[in-house]
Amino acid sequence: MESVSKKRRRQQETTTEEEMKRKKMKLLDSQERTEERRSQERQPIQAERLPEHIITNYEFHSILGRGTFGKVFLASIPTKKERVAVKVIRKTPKDEEKKTIEKEARILKVACGSPFLCRGLAAFQTKQYAFLVMEYAGGGSLSNLLGIKHHLKKRHVIFYSAELICGVQHLHSLGIIHRDLKPDNILLTSDGHMKIADFGIAAEGVFGHKTIRGKTGTCWYMAPELLGNKKYNAAVDWWSLGIILSEMATGRSPFDDHYHQQDVRSSILTEKPVFPEGMSTTLQDLLQKLLKKRPHKRLGMNGNIREHQLYRKINWEDVERQRISPPIRFEAVSNGCGLYYSFLFGLYKLFLSTGIYYIFVSDK
Ligand code: ADP
Ligand code: MG
Repeated sequence: MESVSKKRRRQQETTTEEEMKRKKMKLLDSQERTEERRSQERQPIQAERLPEHIITNYEFHSILGRGTFGKVFLASIPTKKERVAVKVIRKTPKDEEKKTIEKEARILKVACGSPFLCRGLAAFQTKQYAFLVMEYAGGGSLSNLLGIKHHLKKRHVIFYSAELICGVQHLHSLGIIHRDLKPDNILLTSDGHMKIADFGIAAEGVFGHKTIRGKTGTCWYMAPELLGNKKYNAAVDWWSLGIILSEMATGRSPFDDHYHQQDVRSSILTEKPVFPEGMSTTLQDLLQKLLKKRPHKRLGMNGNIREHQLYRKINWEDVERQRISPPIRFEAVSNGCGLYYSFLFGLYKLFLSTGIYYIFVSDK
């Protein structure tokens, strides 16, 4: 039998939901309603809206990750099978932080236009917290993957970087610069496709030759112009992609010989990238072009990266439509069952990430 408190809670939820709907209808005059409907029609891959935008309707299972701005939980709505990731951010009275949360929610919404960007499904708030509900990427982060595999085979690097290129180009076409591209912010779905996530410090409205200022990001992945406090544009993302590609291919950054941030900074600003012996010349050529100190000469801004030799066998339409089968599939199993399943199905590798085991199901 359902407990009284449960029943009461359900009644409260329904009432709150109706109140919210009424308030929303009042707020939107007819013109805004038409605009909302139009903008929904314009979005081709509109995520199915989760109807209940109140926190008590979500069941929280485990922590997926912690970042600078909040914690991300694996959650679900009990009446639905779909699992989601919910970023929980503690609100502060600062105007700047409020704007940051609103911006992240906005970008998560427009991310629906590309399968390589983590889509937002809902955003709502209580007095103390803001909640950003996103699609769940069940394969963990690229950082997890590199933590286990150290580096990836060349054809895996080609596959992953091609998907990343599509995602980055989509963001740039919307005037958005990510500014914090790094393996922690690149996620994998359980079928093994890439998803760029974490738009917390992205910049909006940067079209054409427009440049902006503002030092932000993660030192190891920051372009020289960003580190040097100069004006910059979308070229900063292509630099970060160069570092990520190098880490995927070799397990390290080409400016990685230094431990202290200050040394990394001066290495990025002044030194040439160093690649290990034996790295393929095509890959080295691509990295050299992505890691040009002068942003206007950097591949991505200057020239079509899709036409680089490394991608000569790539059919970009197939990549865009996710028709290329990913090299690794993942299975996320919660604590305890991981080992059992890995023996049962002959799965061969397993690792721990904040309470969830990710298993490589197949690795071609
Ligand atoms: P922050 O802005 O605080 O850095 P992120 O958005 O990067 O937060 O999330 C922190 C971590 O949570 C990520 O590195 C990742 O491990 C995990 N995470 C975030 N979003 C998702 C998601 N949609 N699916 C699965 N894991 C996620
Ligand atoms: Mg992050």
